[in-house]
Amino acid sequence: MASDTRPNALLRRGLMFILSSPSGAGKTTISRMLLDRDPEISLSVSATTRPIRPGEVDGVHYHFVGEAEFDRMVEADEFYEWATVFGHSYGTPKAQIRAGLKEGRDYLFDIDWQGTQQLYQKDQQDVVRVFILPPSIEELRRRLTDRATDAPEVIQARMERARAEISHWDGYDYVVVNDDVEACYDQVLEILHAERMKRARQTGLIGFVRGLMKD
Ligand code: 5GP
Repeated sequence: MASDTRPNALLRRGLMFILSSPSGAGKTTISRMLLDRDPEISLSVSATTRPIRPGEVDGVHYHFVGEAEFDRMVEADEFYEWATVFGHSYGTPKAQIRAGLKEGRDYLFDIDWQGTQQLYQKDQQDVVRVFILPPSIEELRRRLTDRATDAPEVIQARMERARAEISHWDGYDYVVVNDDVEACYDQVLEILHAERMKRARQTGLIGFVRGLMKD
């Protein structure tokens, strides 16, 4: 069929789209907008040893596994990255993501700079790293002061955590300032669209171009 030979109908390899920011810069909002509006991107489902909570579904929110199974997966190098958080283990399993990438599915990661470094070390060609900055330090302070009852030292601790995260801005491919949420979302989407068009990701190009070169 004619439409199958157009470049935009070609097969492409998916990508791992990482969004990081200090808390208060709008990363969670932007992530939600991407997941709601773009059908080709989804969240990766992590494995965890923590008990399932009411309302959670195994295989949807997490893959709930026992400690022995988690240890086996670590030993077998089945995770892109893993960490212990509040006494439980969490990891990003490779198998499902690898299969999805081959089929042209994109995965969104809402993770900090340490997780970003680990993912990037494992798979540089598939990873796209985006960092979101707040428009000013005053605005960040305002966004982190959500309750009038917050003690000054609580706000101060949040600000210090945010500054520590910001100091890793130079470990990212793209940096977007979130002055206005819709404008920031548009810029993040432009990055995603351009990265999808990278020659190396357009795996159907070889056959397509070969067809163009024929008489
Ligand atoms: P929760 O148990 O409340 O769902 O998540 C607790 C924490 O674990 C959150 O901070 C979350 O970001 C982190 N987490 C969830 N999945 C992963 C993962 O695959 N890798 C890492 N490093 N942290 C994760």
